[in-house]
Amino acid sequence: MVPRSTPDANLVGDVDPVARVEQLREAIGRHDRLYYELDQPEIPDADYDALVRELLAIEEQHPDLITPDSPTRRVAGAAAATFAEVVHRVPMMSLDNAMDADELAAWAERTRRRLADLGVDETSTGYVCELKIDGLAVSLRYEEGALVQGATRGNGRVGEDVTANLRTVAAIPEQLGPDAPPVVEVRGEVYLPIPEFDRINAEALAAGEKTYVNPRNTAAGSLRQKDAAVTATRRLAFWSYQLGEVVGGPVLATHHETMDWMSSLGFPVNPERRLVGSLAEVSAYCADWQARRHDLDYEIDGVVVKLDDLAVRERLGSTARAPRWAVAYKFPPEERTTTLLDIGVSIGRTGRATPFAVLEPVFVGGSTVAMATLHNADQVAAKDVRVGDTVIVRKAGDVIPEVVGPVLADRSADSAPWVFPTLCPSCGGPLERPVGEVEHRCSNERCPARVAGAIEHFASRSAMDIEGLGEQRVHLFGELGMVADVADIYSLDYDRLAGLEGFGELSVANLAAAIEASKERPLANLLVGLNIRHVGGTVARVLAEHFGSLDNLEAATVDELAVVEGIGPVIAASVADFLARSENRNVLAKLRAAGVNLTQPTASQLAGVPEAEADVLAGLSIVVTGTLDGFSRDGATEAITARGGKAPGSVSAKTTVVVVGASPGAAKVTKAEQLGVPVVDEAAFVRLLAGEPLERVLGGP
Ligand code: NAD
Repeated sequence: MVPRSTPDANLVGDVDPVARVEQLREAIGRHDRLYYELDQPEIPDADYDALVRELLAIEEQHPDLITPDSPTRRVAGAAAATFAEVVHRVPMMSLDNAMDADELAAWAERTRRRLADLGVDETSTGYVCELKIDGLAVSLRYEEGALVQGATRGNGRVGEDVTANLRTVAAIPEQLGPDAPPVVEVRGEVYLPIPEFDRINAEALAAGEKTYVNPRNTAAGSLRQKDAAVTATRRLAFWSYQLGEVVGGPVLATHHETMDWMSSLGFPVNPERRLVGSLAEVSAYCADWQARRHDLDYEIDGVVVKLDDLAVRERLGSTARAPRWAVAYKFPPEERTTTLLDIGVSIGRTGRATPFAVLEPVFVGGSTVAMATLHNADQVAAKDVRVGDTVIVRKAGDVIPEVVGPVLADRSADSAPWVFPTLCPSCGGPLERPVGEVEHRCSNERCPARVAGAIEHFASRSAMDIEGLGEQRVHLFGELGMVADVADIYSLDYDRLAGLEGFGELSVANLAAAIEASKERPLANLLVGLNIRHVGGTVARVLAEHFGSLDNLEAATVDELAVVEGIGPVIAASVADFLARSENRNVLAKLRAAGVNLTQPTASQLAGVPEAEADVLAGLSIVVTGTLDGFSRDGATEAITARGGKAPGSVSAKTTVVVVGASPGAAKVTKAEQLGVPVVDEAAFVRLLAGEPLERVLGGP
């Protein structure tokens, strides 16, 4: 077993094993207290797991160093004195881990050998795969159908009585139905759904309080409150996955039947559980959920694989810490620790100053992370991350990496809180934070970083879509004084470019062609690219379609702008202000002189609809429901609007006709019938698009 690399694990090899075992047990004990008793872990799970694995590896090499109370031999955790003790009649165990597919296969092989030794046919049982919910284990005891006691796992033998707190969890039944046996103890995971975690943190941030590190520890902290009224505000949830003590009830032979029975009693059982027959299927389930883990609205940190046959499980038994018939396949870590080398500030195209962390590169969440945004001054202060700190970095799925917080135990005595710089790192002008806003800004419109950001935005896909004009080149052209505003792109000195490093003949030609092609973009794209406050894709399109040309837009008064549907006074003022400023007029004049298109094609021109069909649907309102063979949903909408028709999302008395495809929305069809709106199929829709009159289409062939 190779320990994962962590700052602590690096010490292995040149240290005396006796001393190292001592060190590791102490560190693990400390982290256990922080995690289980205080619900405030200092280090990510992956770092903790690495410590335990290092200890296991040393104990394997030096069995004489094993003690019965080693963290590798017992269930970690303890019962806090705040709560009454609950003695678990059936111990609550932990699980052994498999960190990758090889370790999973090794567990299966070990199990197979054990079963063979016991004379049990290994093929007599399947596996049940379940999501490993990242929450905390609890036990719920029901007598004569009524919830009488709820407890945490504690150290596995003795847990904490948190009955009152558990009663506030909506998913936990107070009373079971008439089929409930005299005694049933159900075990499962209490967890905090991610939207709830986000809500709680947003509220904490708004109140200037410390934010929580992750849903798991927030769940544990919320459940282990002295005052159950506080727990009630946290909207915890629950999945059950196991039975403890049972008196009466049906005879159950398998785990999957047990889960079904728990479900029939009224307990929430996770629907993603799967009974499979082979290790290959187990591996496929693990790989599938590793890829999809972020599709859920709660956190999972792996898959729990359990043998299905209860009699076979009984034969295998448990160690003091964990059952032999189950294993937790853990997903690769999405949190790691690293060093915060520096905090920089980047200036965006609107002048917004965003602090970012410069990190000692660390492999986390599937890629190497060397930088992470810190959002704004409040966030840096709330997290209190300081240069030189060991910090926890999180990268989950496609989400951009973030710094979760510092590992305070590793902080050096002379560290100081970070202070937002007062001067712009790009132009040296003042960085100011307007009253009531969370962001600092550089207000110098000529700030090189702002100009570069604006040009990059102008060239981006949603604006003028100039391929080959990305961040690096924009910065280079800026530094060389070749571009000072977006219009300068159209007067680039290509001969000079050809002499620069990294600019071959072909790449210069490609860039020139891409810039030339961008001159033909619709006015809406140009408006997006101009970086006008409050003007994004939708607003730009509304303006461009309404006014048709830049000339008309420039001629419009604020009032004329404000009455356009979807614009309003704030956007109108922003647009009018932009167009009135001399520096912007200057840029627009340069764009005009360069031959950039300043008009908006009609919807039919954009969709390539022949002129003869351009308004065949004028005055008609057509609702499409269900799947059509020849059109996507957007495609159908575009086909209608490009011909002058309206394509609203719902049926009303104004609807002319409803087009019904496969699996239509029942509500829309019923509404159409109630209102007497004609319903037609896709073939009729195509005839309408081609310009056939509605009456003829409705009247038959
Ligand atoms: P574990 O989390 O590896 O596995 C056992 C637990 O899994 C069970 O007790 C149960 O709560 C949970 N579980 C979730 N879904 C389940 C399902 N479907 N079926 C069965 N069980 C399910 O082991 P553990 O002993 O609870 O905790 C050890 C882990 O806790 C460590 O590996 C580490 O990740 C974390 N930890 C972290 C720190 C830290 O400082 N960051 C400290 C201590 C522990």
